[in-house]
Amino acid sequence: MKFNTKTIHGGQEHDKAYGAVMPPIYQTSTYAQSTPGGHKGFEYSRTHNPTRKALENGFASLENGTHGLAFASGMAAIDAVIKLLKPGDEVISTNDLYGGSYRIFTKIFADFGIKFHFIGMENADKIASYVNDNTKLIWIETPTNPMMNIIDIKAAAKIAKSHNILLGVDNTFATPYLQRPLDLGADIVMHSATKYLGGHSDVVMGALVVKDDALAERLYFIQNSCGAVSGPQDSFLMLRGLKTLHVRMQRHCENGKAVAHYLASHPEIEKVYWPGFETHPNHDIAKDQMDDFGGMISFTTKGNSYENAIKIVERLNIFTLAESLGGVESLAGHPASMTHASIPKEEREKTGVVDSLIRLSVGIEDADDLIADLKQAIG
Ligand SMILES: *Cc1c(COP(=O)(O)O)cnc(C)c1O
Repeated sequence: MKFNTKTIHGGQEHDKAYGAVMPPIYQTSTYAQSTPGGHKGFEYSRTHNPTRKALENGFASLENGTHGLAFASGMAAIDAVIKLLKPGDEVISTNDLYGGSYRIFTKIFADFGIKFHFIGMENADKIASYVNDNTKLIWIETPTNPMMNIIDIKAAAKIAKSHNILLGVDNTFATPYLQRPLDLGADIVMHSATKYLGGHSDVVMGALVVKDDALAERLYFIQNSCGAVSGPQDSFLMLRGLKTLHVRMQRHCENGKAVAHYLASHPEIEKVYWPGFETHPNHDIAKDQMDDFGGMISFTTKGNSYENAIKIVERLNIFTLAESLGGVESLAGHPASMTHASIPKEEREKTGVVDSLIRLSVGIEDADDLIADLKQAIG
């Protein structure tokens, strides 16, 4: 089955009771048993729920995995991955990680005796020099947020394999439409399904997909033991979102390309960060591991004025000033005052998050309207 068919049919079967084309919302916590243990595969909805199961099978299908797991949020999915580790274990991760991931690693799991290394991975070979006997996990994001750096997944997988370390990839920005990390050698794919997978800014959810039975078993055990599962209503909405992932992503990519080129041609714009440009330092890797370049773009303005950046995001009409990304509607964010405000100026500027940086999640509206909106806002 090809990807555009999988988004609709992957892992899905019609409802056995009445042939409903969409899986019913099984809004139930428990299931009747005829005799102790005499059930139809479902006992309690923290452990299993038929609506969630349909969604989990959909996630697995899209990422070319064999097992999917749906969580209450992207952070709950990451939380489950780190719970595979023990005190003394070490993790190698990237230095421009999603802020929430950085926070859970440094403010929650560091206190449990897990050590994290945050390094630049533009050259993935650098990862090897941080590996020691305690290293158990390499955790990467590509493209990264908000600097749109690209990390070579195949190269990271090679290092992970040769040292018997797990490689986890946060595939939120790319989605399986653009990039399938399990095919490139990763062990775990993670999503904030809140973003592109759901696609309509109406659900908070996380996902994990793996293709190894033993690893899946350990993750299901953690999911059931800790209990941060997605509910049946949200699972239904997410499944509905998945069915249009391919058509939405196609338009996100087209609009992203149009907006990136417009910004690059604007005399007031200093720099545009988008992996589709040949001048992007890892454009060749992006071309190799992604099928297109997506709708996430960051840019800076000449003079690097904080006030001017605020003015631009306030003037935007079609782009909504908001956190988050990946929905059908275009969003704009100012990392220095929003997502990265808690990081000291010198620290954030080291990774490129300067005062004038603006991040766009280009939606699926008409590209001409989006460009006209940017034009009037930038002036
Ligand atoms: C939003 C996001 C997360 C966290 O997911 P939630 O669903 O908000 O918990 C993790 N990684 C990336 C790249 C994200 O954008």
